[in-house]
Amino acid sequence: MHMNRRRFLINSSSALAAAYLLPACSPQARYRTDVVVLGAGFAGLMATRLLRSAGIETLLLEGNDRVGGRVFTLDSLPGRPEGGATELGKSYTELLGLCEALGIKTLPPSGRYPAGYALFVNGQLTSDSSWSASESDQFAANERDTPPNRLLRLYLPKDLPFANTADWGSRDWAEQDISLADYLRRQGASEAAIQVIDSNLNATDIETLSWADMLKGMVVRRNSQPRGLFDVEGGLSRVSDGLQSEVGDSLLLGRRINRIRTHSSGVEVGCDDGTRVQARLAICALPFSTLRKVSMDTDFSSAKKAAIQGMQYTPVTVVYARITKNFWEEDGLPEDTWTDTPIGRVFVSRTGGVPRIRAFSMGESSTILDEMIRSKKDPLEVLYKARPSTRGALEFETALRWGSDPMSLGAFSHYPAGGVSRYARAVASTEAGVAFAGEHTQVAAPGVEAALVSGRSAAQAVQHLLAAGKTA
Ligand SMILES: Cc1cc2nc3c(=O)[nH]c(=O)nc-3n(C[C@H](O)[C@H](O)[C@H](O)COP(=O)(O)OP(=O)(O)OC[C@H]3O[C@@H](n4cnc5c(N)ncnc54)[C@H](O)[C@@H]3O)c2cc1C
Repeated sequence: MHMNRRRFLINSSSALAAAYLLPACSPQARYRTDVVVLGAGFAGLMATRLLRSAGIETLLLEGNDRVGGRVFTLDSLPGRPEGGATELGKSYTELLGLCEALGIKTLPPSGRYPAGYALFVNGQLTSDSSWSASESDQFAANERDTPPNRLLRLYLPKDLPFANTADWGSRDWAEQDISLADYLRRQGASEAAIQVIDSNLNATDIETLSWADMLKGMVVRRNSQPRGLFDVEGGLSRVSDGLQSEVGDSLLLGRRINRIRTHSSGVEVGCDDGTRVQARLAICALPFSTLRKVSMDTDFSSAKKAAIQGMQYTPVTVVYARITKNFWEEDGLPEDTWTDTPIGRVFVSRTGGVPRIRAFSMGESSTILDEMIRSKKDPLEVLYKARPSTRGALEFETALRWGSDPMSLGAFSHYPAGGVSRYARAVASTEAGVAFAGEHTQVAAPGVEAALVSGRSAAQAVQHLLAAGKTA
């Protein structure tokens, strides 16, 4: 087993102090280590695992009382549905390799792509297959036969202007760095179409999302091989569990970071509970949404600071409810529902053989739903009004409000219009002794795969710096 030889606790009253046989005389725990890793999501866990296995003294600070961040299997619910990341692509080679190394089985996906949708748009309930018959004169003539859930596709280019993402942030990409709304207007989309596309868009809002960032996602999806999905046996948190046992006593839970200072001889990190860490180097694996709440006295470049302040995170609210009656048999519409209301899209899920609905809303819809839940209103009321057959057919189980979760403040990062030109190249750069990891730092992979890939690159970056004898 890896031994922590050089890291030492200066003083502490915590349980961990006992392991190092140091005096417990102050409420403030102070540590010294070679590398401090901030945040125990997949990125921070992966980086810590690799540094430990290379014999480097590492401390991993996590603000929550669990690891995994935006990976969160709901173990307390029957069938263990996912509260965070759900769809795992067969192109996720880092994740597949990790499952194999940790002895975790992968399975065929329990999810499926919707065969069709019940639509509730502009107060009317119909289905996507009968949409062309519905009255919709606010839409442009070329849009009327396309159901709202497919409107965005109508305006996407058939031939993408980029072969790959190798020159991400270059002038060519910067030319596309306008908002998605402006891109759609240039293609002749109606304002009604823009509004309905916005209701289920993975972004804070359609006037903000960079079209260049959206194009990047399309290029990555087009180039990703192999295609298809898989599940992880027992849920994705089994991977975080495996990583947690590998990082062992490097991990300190319940340490919410509130201060980072870089100086010529290293990096200092402070936490709400008074814990303080001095390290030669750091890996910051916090999303920029929470990092910008941390007080920073650093020598970061102005582009890095702009990226930390400017990167956007899509608010997402997920609601789970058990199905007690097959409501689609009553109204004769498809099982899944697409709405322009705060409940967003509602999928019938059978993970672990348990029939339930998974409502998924993003952007402004998510913020409204989140606020309803916070003020103790039933979020399912929105669905009952949109699709009356669901009333009396559901039992609320849980809701996850990722947009207001203080450790996430959003689910997916994305660039605002103008952000790609200003700081795309600075997002992942190592500066002032701090390497950056997290899904937001990766260009050629999405979600949890991006987090794992970024953890590996950040671990390699600090290993090189340590080998060269460098500190901050
Ligand atoms: C609802 C939802 C659905 C998703 N669906 C998919 C999907 O289908 N497929 C996919 O690939 N990806 C999906 N994702 C995205 C995926 O979960 C993330 O991209 C990935 O888990 C991010 O990992 P990370 O390590 O970069 O960040 P995180 O998981 O956010 O980890 C950051 C860690 O830092 C901690 N932290 C934050 N601030 C502080 C602080 N101040 N002090 C101390 N600790 C702090 C957090 O608690 C967290 O543990 C989804 C996410 C959500 C929320």
